[in-house]
Amino acid sequence: MAFPGAAQPFQAGEGGLQCWMVGAIVGVLVLVLVILLAYQRYLVGKKPVQHLCDYCGHMVNVVSDCHHAPVRERFLHGICTECRRECRLMCAKCKRPV
Ligand SMILES: [Zn+2]
Ligand SMILES: [Zn+2]
Repeated sequence: MAFPGAAQPFQAGEGGLQCWMVGAIVGVLVLVLVILLAYQRYLVGKKPVQHLCDYCGHMVNVVSDCHHAPVRERFLHGICTECRRECRLMCAKCKRPV
């Protein structure tokens, strides 16, 4: 009588502990991922991003191809800070696409 009664809470407790651990691990992984993404965004927002220009052969700042204005960079393209439209990235020195 007492044994099954004692075993059941133990099993439930063990299962609950496993669930809790899986949840904690997933939570930690998600947290790490979010922090990494936030840190990456912070870095991209902070430092002036430079690109290797094929023509100059140097790391150069980029400008937009429409206004030759500074570019706020997005994934695979940029936003011209002058007209706020999508633009291609261009070498600030020789004005060629990078
Ligand atoms: Zn160049
Ligand atoms: Zn523009």
